[in-house]
Amino acid sequence: MSTGLVCDERYFWYDLGDYRSLMGGHPHIEPGTFAETPESKRRILNLLAASGLLRQLRLLRPEPVSFEELCCVHDATYVEAVKTLSSKGGGSLGPGVPVPAGGYEIAALAVGGTRRAIDAVLRSEVDNSYALVRPPGHHAERDRGWGLCIFANAAIATKLAMRDHGLARVAIVDWDAHHGNGTESAFYEDPSVLTISVHQDMVVPERGAIEDTGRGPGDGYNINIPLPPGSGTGAYLAAIDRVMAPALRRFRPELILVASGVDACASDPTARMLLMSDSYRIMCARLLDLAVELCDGRLVMTHEGGYDPTAAPFCALAILEEMAGVRTEVRDPFGELFEDEISGHQCLQPHQEAVIDRAVATFSRER
Ligand SMILES: [Zn+2]
Repeated sequence: MSTGLVCDERYFWYDLGDYRSLMGGHPHIEPGTFAETPESKRRILNLLAASGLLRQLRLLRPEPVSFEELCCVHDATYVEAVKTLSSKGGGSLGPGVPVPAGGYEIAALAVGGTRRAIDAVLRSEVDNSYALVRPPGHHAERDRGWGLCIFANAAIATKLAMRDHGLARVAIVDWDAHHGNGTESAFYEDPSVLTISVHQDMVVPERGAIEDTGRGPGDGYNINIPLPPGSGTGAYLAAIDRVMAPALRRFRPELILVASGVDACASDPTARMLLMSDSYRIMCARLLDLAVELCDGRLVMTHEGGYDPTAAPFCALAILEEMAGVRTEVRDPFGELFEDEISGHQCLQPHQEAVIDRAVATFSRER
């Protein structure tokens, strides 16, 4: 098994600036940094190195995508606004959309990193791959950024891969704790891309409902699984086994791309889910099995959220160990520390199962 890893030092240089500015200059927020710092992602890379796993991965260099390529999802006026602001010293395109000086180039490199990870798998350079990119992308929509996302990394890279490699069907699974609204909107009327998001219910306001199934020819090709806060491994595995797996089998994708946020981790400051690093390990194994069954193992992940700098590295390491088929000697100290505290809540609970049942019923209905 060979696994590719895309990373670039410049990803850690996307400067979100001051937290107060990020929140629109709120007068009662003390200046300081937001939870989304380069630290959590840099520490992922560092733990990969310290564990020895990094030596066993194939490092892939990203190239930025072009202005025109960004426009396969975004309006040219929006891309131009990001580029102009970036070249004139940086600023903000609204709350949660910071564009630092030089940010355009880094954001275009994040899209290019996701593209590189996909290309490496489709060209059989590696069996599977992980793009450890920043800034994230799954909240960015056609004409606006949102939630720290500037360009829609997964959506743009998918469109480019379909164009360049002649793919007819791609599935995007988003397990970030927040709804993948940008990815959803890019393909909402498109039956060639199956989008599935499992997320914390209502954590992105008014988005991610089960009833949002797609529009026109895309109806039935968008699946939302909004789990209640407090969901753990059991709920996520039920979402994969009962909703995602049958949907993927019916769709028969030629590639599975995962928008891999690790912010459903129990200690993440931005969500209220209960996953542990071993949860991600098991979830990743399920996706790997489905990729082997359906598309010659073509599984690519692109990084999204994950804001606890201590726990996120162990979650990402577990995913990459599983993808590479290598178990390092690293043991997650937080897994042991919190296991007793939350283990009783990891099993699927009735109010979570009710959501899964509703998602199954919605996905299964005749169209
Ligand atoms: Zn997130």
